[in-house]
Amino acid sequence: MAESGETELVVLGAGPGGYTAAFAAADKGMQVTLIDAFEKPGGTCLYVGCIPSKALLHAAKLLTDARDAQAWGIHFGRPEIDLAALRAQETKVVETLGKNLLELSKRRKVEYIRARATFADSRTLRLDNGSSRRFKHCVIAVGSSPIVPPSLKLESARLMDSTAGLRLEEVPASLLVVGGGYIGLELGCVYAALGSRVTVVELTDGLLPGVDRDLVRPLQSRLEGQFHKIYLGTKVAKLAETAEGIRATLEGEEIEEREPTFGRVLVAVGRRPNSRGLGLENTKVQLDDKGFIRVNEQRRTTDEPIFAIGDVAGEPMLAHKASHEGKVAVEAIAGEPAAFDSRAIPAVVFTDPEIAWCGLSETEAKRQGREVKVVRFPWGASGRAATLGRTEGLTKLVTEPETERLLGMGIVGEGAGELIAEGVVAVEMAASARDLALSIHPHPTLSETVGEAAESVYGPTTHLFRVRR
Ligand code: NAD
Repeated sequence: MAESGETELVVLGAGPGGYTAAFAAADKGMQVTLIDAFEKPGGTCLYVGCIPSKALLHAAKLLTDARDAQAWGIHFGRPEIDLAALRAQETKVVETLGKNLLELSKRRKVEYIRARATFADSRTLRLDNGSSRRFKHCVIAVGSSPIVPPSLKLESARLMDSTAGLRLEEVPASLLVVGGGYIGLELGCVYAALGSRVTVVELTDGLLPGVDRDLVRPLQSRLEGQFHKIYLGTKVAKLAETAEGIRATLEGEEIEEREPTFGRVLVAVGRRPNSRGLGLENTKVQLDDKGFIRVNEQRRTTDEPIFAIGDVAGEPMLAHKASHEGKVAVEAIAGEPAAFDSRAIPAVVFTDPEIAWCGLSETEAKRQGREVKVVRFPWGASGRAATLGRTEGLTKLVTEPETERLLGMGIVGEGAGELIAEGVVAVEMAASARDLALSIHPHPTLSETVGEAAESVYGPTTHLFRVRR
């Protein structure tokens, strides 16, 4: 039990990590206070991240599907886009989910406080409403914020980070996206579908650095048809406001125009943990050299009563990893044996086509010098992909040669984000390729590509025949 006047558990930050931890703790009978600067629970993911971006990507998909329908003899004509109505729909989705989360908090008797809090010491939080809270345990789940490098800082309403980009104030005639990562490509797809001429500038020599190249290729070739330009190995050295828009100075080898001007610029070059300004110097909590809070496998920090989860506690900065950590931390607080030991944290880029992967990727296996067997099933051989007119996809499996065990899965194609869940379960359960091959997948579905990729570990499959040499 907590001492009188102290809260048993304070969760700082009410995103998917924080509210999952708070709800799990309340379900175990703990007395819980959840603190966040947003009016309701949901955090970055709900208000300025995953959910609004997916709502906008849904609208973008409606537009591109309507255009692609021409191949099926269906003509909708030029779409009329009512931006105010689109924004209202996005807001409605977000508000409904926020209201539901607040209701779930109330039903569990989780006290929700709208405030910013900083640590006064290892057992006390000071709130910006003038009050303070002593706690027995605290879970820090304060997330991350977009990085804007000094060279890209500019006082201009035309310069957007992801939060501003999601507000969709207008559809600029031209948009520069700095950064070809998750956010740049997802929001780039949204603005391109709405009618902006989108230019993406990526510093490294490929989109989505770190992701297997054969998964990125089909996405890149589709984006090349939708975006005005994709510059790789290119730097935005300077941004300057002019009467016509923002002038960007580009540095790279194959640039057609070195100083193009854009109606708007979206900067999406990564996020940093929100570990500064929390008063952590008043505690024994330590940070690593990237500013992430140091935690152990239970997500306990170097200050015993304090735990940290989600983006602030390390990569990958993904909501579902935060939620899982939240449950682990609460189990540890409850004295249960608990550890974060996932083998397959899935990642999904919600572009069209989607890219999803989990477990060991081919790129990572190469980096580790680990011998693996990789099999690929091209969606050109999938009946379901043909009916959807989306045969550009690919399903690949990374297996352990001696044991045939599935170590990782990667998919590019329509619905990859949903399909990857099978890979997550298989990797976590240490399934072998044979387990997947012997599981009957429904026909005609895209999930058959997983089953048939697994069969191909053992030789030719029904729809894949390669002449043996
Ligand atoms: P990111 O790390 O995915 O991509 C940033 C990109 O910017 C990289 O490709 C990097 O090489 C490039 N870059 C860095 N500096 C640059 C510069 N000066 N000029 C041009 N390019 C530059 O970061 P993000 O897209 O900002 O997203 C941040 C994080 O948010 C992601 O890592 C991810 O964890 C999370 N996120 C996840 C999803 C999802 O799960 N679908 C969606 C959005 C964001």
